[in-house]
This record gives sequence, structure tokens and C-alpha cells, in this order.
Amino acid sequence: MIPAVTLNNGAKMPIVGLGTWRADPGKLWSTFHLPSLVRGACEKTLSDLKLDYMDLYLMHFPMGAKPGGEFFPVDENEQIISDDSNFLDTWEAMEELVDAGLVKAIGISNFNKDQTEAILNKPGLKYKPAVNQIECHPYLTQEKLINYCHSKGIAVTAYGPLGSPDRPWASSDEPSLLEDPKIKAIATKYNKTPAQVLIRFHTQRNVIVIAKSATPHRIKENFELFDFELSQDDMKTLLSLNKNWRAFQMPWASKHKDFPLNAEY
Ligand code: NDP
Repeated sequence: MIPAVTLNNGAKMPIVGLGTWRADPGKLWSTFHLPSLVRGACEKTLSDLKLDYMDLYLMHFPMGAKPGGEFFPVDENEQIISDDSNFLDTWEAMEELVDAGLVKAIGISNFNKDQTEAILNKPGLKYKPAVNQIECHPYLTQEKLINYCHSKGIAVTAYGPLGSPDRPWASSDEPSLLEDPKIKAIATKYNKTPAQVLIRFHTQRNVIVIAKSATPHRIKENFELFDFELSQDDMKTLLSLNKNWRAFQMPWASKHKDFPLNAEY
């Protein structure tokens, strides 16, 4: 039985889930931020997934991008082309999805503190974000952003919990969470794998975590987390590994007005 986090709409969300990167889209993609496009995008996903409703629907980035056929519209400098939308307007259109019964809860992803706060302070706000999905692992512990979100009743989901080693732009000289000697030593101590320690780390912070695996025995392993508990000292050791290292730096959006990663958190 997987423990659950209660979202601010009262629904319960399992604290561990399966990452689905490179499976079919399940979030509101950037090229559908214009309010007139939001409902159609949601309905397309529902139809692709053969669902009547979704439990949770996230705005994937704060940055809106030029609508049209291109999934990733970039200019000659490889920078994403903005649609000049305002994510507050996108949020309002997402609120209508809840009222229409297409989704039970709405949330955000890759939003920094100020952007999250802007939604919370939006005049006429109807629904607070239920979740903010952000990159998080011992090299990017996100303490301030997690504390902020939790203090506002927003659950946090950690993506890239294993450092996303299979992402196409991974380089051979980057730090490896799965090979980190301190993480390996902790894993040995509990007779667990480094991946299990890295996933368990989040559940003990009340953070939802979605590791991706397409390998059956790893999928099973990644859910075998509730027969051990990391000691406070081991949690401290894991937190001390923070170096604000990001697997997802999004350099293609660094000039966008809503680029989230220039803020302190
Ligand atoms: P993860 O950190 O989950 O790493 C996935 C990689 O780790 C794969 O190569 C996988 O290999 C390997 N792996 C999985 N389990 C184990 C294990 N037990 N031992 C050793 N290796 C293992 O990376 P992701 O980037 O996929 O992040 C997880 C999810 O987060 C995504 O799938 C997606 O749903 C979400 N995400 C959201 C983003 C956002 O902007 N909101 C951005 C990026 C991700 P294999 O599959 O071969 O088993």
C-alpha cells in the first residue's frame, strides 16, 4: 500500500508514481497557453488517453510558446518563441476545465516562488494550484521552494529524482546521483539500491516523487520503499549534497520573459 498526500482539493495522490517522459503528453504544453487553446488541448489529451476526466492537469512550464504545428518553436538563436501570453490568463482557462468537469485538480510545473505567488495573488483566483512539479534530488534539494509551496498548501512533486541519466543531453562528465559514493554507502547500509534511497528521500520530506523506468524489475524496485526508513543523519547527509545542479537548465528559454530559473528559488 503506497502512502498518499492529500491535495488541497481533498483528493489523495500516491506519494510515489511512475514517470512517463517520452510517453504520450499528459500536461498542458507551452504552445497551448493562449486561453482560447487550453480547453481543446485538454480535450485532445483526454481523447488520446481515452478518459472522461483527469485527476490532475498541470501547466508544464510558465513560458507560453508560439502556437501552431511545431512542438518546440525556436528562433534562429535556438530560443523558444513566446506567444506573449500571461500565465495568469492560462491559469484562468485551466480553472474553467475544473468547472467543466474535465479535470479534478489543476497544478503547475517548473514555476519558481514568485510565479507561484503570482497565481496565489491573482485577483479572483478560483482554485489554488494543487501541485508544483519541479526538478528535485540531493544535488538540487529545493528546500526554500518546497517549504514555500507546502506553507501555501501546494503539494510538490519531484521530477528527475535519479538525475535523469537517460535524457538526450546528459554528458559523461556530469555528477551522477546513482554513482555517488555517499549515496551508495547509505544504500548499502539499508540493503537497498541507490535508486531506492533517492526515491525514499522524497517521501520522507512529504514530497511526491515520479521516477521513470521502462524496465520491469526497476519499476518494481522503485516502489519497494516502505520497509525501511532513512535516519535523520542520513537525511541530513543527503541534503548536504545540494549543489544546485540541474539536469534541466532549459537554456532554450533563458530569454523568455517567464523563464523561471533566474530567481533564487
Ligand atoms: P529519472 O531521474 O526518473 O531517471 C530515469 C532514468 O533512470 C532512466 O534512464 C531509467 O532507466 C533509470 N532508472 C530508473 N530506475 C532505476 C533504478 N532502479 N536503477 C537504475 N536506474 C534506474 O528521470 P526523468 O527525467 O525521466 O524524470 C522522471 C519523470 O519526471 C519523467 O519521466 C517525467 O514524467 C517527469 N519529468 C517532468 C519534467 C517537467 O518539466 N515537469 C521534466 C523531466 C521529467 P530505464 O528506463 O532504462 O529503467
